[in-house]
Amino acid sequence: MSFQNPVFIPGPTNIPESVRKACDMPTLDHRSPAFARLFKPAVSGVRRVLKMDQGEVILIPSTGTGGWEAAVTNTLSPGDTVLAARFGMFSHRWIDLCQRHGLNVQIIETPWGQGAPLAQIEAALRAAPSIKAVLATHNETATGVKSDIAGIRRAMDAAGHGAMLFVDGVSSIASMPFDFAGWGVDIAVAGSQKGFMLPAGLAILGVSPKAIAAMGTATLPRTFFDFRDMLTSYARGGYPYTPAVGLIAGLAHSIDLLEGEGLENVYARHHRLAEGVRRAVQGWGMTPYAASADLYSDTVTAVKVPAGCDGTALVQLAASKYGMAFGVGLGEVAGKVFRIGHLGMLTEAMVLSGLCVAEMCMADLGWPVELGSGIAAAQEYYRGTVPALAMAAE
Ligand SMILES: *Cc1c(COP(=O)(O)O)cnc(C)c1O
Repeated sequence: MSFQNPVFIPGPTNIPESVRKACDMPTLDHRSPAFARLFKPAVSGVRRVLKMDQGEVILIPSTGTGGWEAAVTNTLSPGDTVLAARFGMFSHRWIDLCQRHGLNVQIIETPWGQGAPLAQIEAALRAAPSIKAVLATHNETATGVKSDIAGIRRAMDAAGHGAMLFVDGVSSIASMPFDFAGWGVDIAVAGSQKGFMLPAGLAILGVSPKAIAAMGTATLPRTFFDFRDMLTSYARGGYPYTPAVGLIAGLAHSIDLLEGEGLENVYARHHRLAEGVRRAVQGWGMTPYAASADLYSDTVTAVKVPAGCDGTALVQLAASKYGMAFGVGLGEVAGKVFRIGHLGMLTEAMVLSGLCVAEMCMADLGWPVELGSGIAAAQEYYRGTVPALAMAAE
């Protein structure tokens, strides 16, 4: 079959046709004023999406992982202590990256399915004035758990601690509310291929004045990711090396789409899409892997599969028989969950198509699920909640 279904993996996400066209452009001299004209709206758009009131936006030809590396290498020195809770594959990978850079990571081991443990973070900060940064995974994509970043800021303030706050917002930013200024974030990390609905290839960072000041004393080696080179070149309207021009043009356009819909409407749509998925999960007699409702992510649901069933088998069957992509369980939850990504360019009708296929796969695999049980619950929910003209006409 040469036609393609939407994807339901939690990144990369579906790309709107107009975003794809915006990325497709002739070669442009990145040292010309034409580049500066293209670059500025992308940067100012990111500032608005992140809700930054000061600091800098940095766009690196990389991915979210490069954003993690840029955050720590620009602000920290070998042997520095950072605090991080580990509760899924993505929080684990950021910790691993820090350890490989010679940082001392004070890890709060937290059961998968839970979010950042605020009381333990506060206690750890009170006990260790030397902690330089707190790392927080806003949305743990492996388990479908969102963490309370405002709560982490409150814990840091309650402890009277001066550490920086670094937030991985790769699978939340531009699909779930994010408040860089309000939460006192020092570095936010996003990637182009999730909420921004672009192809992979850009690490998108917001950096506070405090984090920029930390560059002066940080001695971890960095060259490609060095914010100092970036900021020096930006000041001249340029780049320290060849920028991903097409992606930057696409980013400005994607932000136009998001703001055309209205960021609050984008967040409300993701909440609605997610809630419909959760109704379907309940209809199947299953539960999200997230331990409690306040932790449910609005961008990805990890569905706990019934005993004796294999979540990976469902993902494989959906791909091989129906040409539809869902996410497998990673690490500790391999086989125990399958993941439905519901971020980026999606409508209720698109989500229903994904839920339909998931349900057919369950029936095909002989899982104890009745056809229609999940989809009807989602249909009922969407019928009652979908706003008129949910998506602005392009
Ligand atoms: C996807 C993801 C990453 C990794 O980003 P890449 O772009 O694949 O390098 C990091 N953190 C979270 C929470 C993610 O979902």
